[in-house]
Amino acid sequence: AKENGGGQYHVYHQEMFQRVAHRVMLEGEVRQALAKQQFSLSLQPQICAKNKKLYGFEALLRWQHPERGMISPEDFIPILENSQHMIELGYWIIRRCFEIAIDLKAQGLNDVRIAINLSAGQFIDVNLSTFLRDLLTEFSLPAECFELELTEQTLVKDMEHTIAIMQELKEMGFTFAIDDFGTGYSSLAYLKKMPVDVIKIDKSFIFGMLENHSDYQIITSTIAMVKNLGLTVVAEGVETKAQLLSLTENDCDIIQGYYYSKPIPEKELAAFIDKQILF
Ligand code: C2E
Ligand code: CA
Ligand code: CA
Ligand code: CA
Repeated sequence: AKENGGGQYHVYHQEMFQRVAHRVMLEGEVRQALAKQQFSLSLQPQICAKNKKLYGFEALLRWQHPERGMISPEDFIPILENSQHMIELGYWIIRRCFEIAIDLKAQGLNDVRIAINLSAGQFIDVNLSTFLRDLLTEFSLPAECFELELTEQTLVKDMEHTIAIMQELKEMGFTFAIDDFGTGYSSLAYLKKMPVDVIKIDKSFIFGMLENHSDYQIITSTIAMVKNLGLTVVAEGVETKAQLLSLTENDCDIIQGYYYSKPIPEKELAAFIDKQILF
C-alpha cells in the first residue's frame, strides 16, 4: 500500500512493526514459558460413530500466560511457525503426548490413540524422526499409539521431501491424518501419492452442514471418496445431535466435537476417564 491520502502508508508500517514486535516478544516468551510450565495440553475425545467407543484424543496446546491469561493457539502458533521456538515447543508437545499415553495405559485404555498436531516447520526438522524413534524406545510404546496430524499446507510445501519423511515415520508405525481437509489446495493429488490413513473434515464444513446444501454435499462426497480409498474419516467440530446423526448415517467413522466433549485439560483427564463419562 502506497500513498492514499497519507494515512494508509503509515498504518501499513505500523501494522508491520506491531507484527514483528509481537513476534519477537512471543518468541522471547516461549522459552521462559516452557521453563515456567505455562504450557499444557488439553485432550479432546474422538468417538467411533458406529459403536460410540472411544477412538482416541487430539492433543491441543494451551498457554496460560501470567498477565495475558489463556492465549489461544490460533493466536500464537501461526506467529511462531517456522521459528526455532516452535520446533522446541513442538518437541515438548510430543514428549508430553508420550507421557499422557503412558497415563492412559495405566488407566486401562490400551488401544487409544493420541493425535498430535505437527506444524510444517516441525515436520521438516531434521531431528524429528530420531526424536520419535528415541521416544518409542524410552517409553516402550508402539508408534501405533500416535496419529500425526499434518495440514494440507505442510503437504504441498515440498511434496517429494514430505513423502520421504512420511514414509520413514510410517515404517516406524506412525499413522497420519490430514487436518482441515478441504480448506487448502490440491486436496486430491496428494491422497494418491502419500501414505495417509485418516482424513479430518474441517469444522467449517460441519457447522452449517444441515442448513447449507453445498457444505452437506461436500461432506457426503468427501466421506464417500475417503472410504472408497480405504481410509478413515473424522468429522471435527460436531456440536449437535442432528449433525452426529447425519454424519453417522452417511458413514462417517469418527466424531470429534463439543457434542461429545470440549478439550479436557490434562489435569482433569484422569477424573474424566475414571468417571467413564463417554464410554
Ligand atoms: P485444529 O487442529 O483444527 O484443532 C481443532 C480445533 O477445533 C481446536 O481449537 C478445538 O478446540 C476446536 N473444536 C473442536 N470441536 C469443536 C466444536 O465442536 N466447536 C468449535 N467451535 N470448536 C471445536 P484450538 O484448541 O483452539 O486449536 C486451534 C488450532 O491451533 C488447531 O486447529 C491447530 O491448528 C492449532 N494447534 C493447537 N494445538 C496445537 C499443537 O500442539 N501443535 C500445533 N502445531 N498446532 C496446534
Ligand atoms: Ca488438528
Ligand atoms: Ca482441524
Ligand atoms: Ca483448524
